[in-house]
Amino acid sequence: MGKIVKPECICDAQFKPILIGGGMNESNPKVYAPFYCDHCGSISQSNLFAKENRCWRCRKKLTMYGRTIGYFSDDESDRFYNPKKVVIDWIMGMDLQYILEDKKYHCPSCKEKKLEFLNRGLWD
Ligand SMILES: [Zn+2]
Ligand SMILES: [Zn+2]
Repeated sequence: MGKIVKPECICDAQFKPILIGGGMNESNPKVYAPFYCDHCGSISQSNLFAKENRCWRCRKKLTMYGRTIGYFSDDESDRFYNPKKVVIDWIMGMDLQYILEDKKYHCPSCKEKKLEFLNRGLWD
């Protein structure tokens, strides 16, 4: 279960809808979030908990959109992180949250900061 977002940029690039969310099975947590590949210009969903996220197309390393926050994290920046507008706010577990902001992100196709994520509802 989770949410669906659609990446949209002002350039002509067409991106598929991305699933966000998943299950926190203790031995095998799988939570999907959007990632991009600057090498081939694609956006895909990948598991936040994977040791390494690679592009399904070209096998290069992916970069994650948004960020995770741990409530009990020692990282000061986590505690003071307070985004103005949020598209997706996914509580993964007791102490972990994934946030995708309502702002312009990097587009792997035109390389400009002109991409945004539109909320397209739920999946289950
Ligand atoms: Zn790629
Ligand atoms: Zn673009």
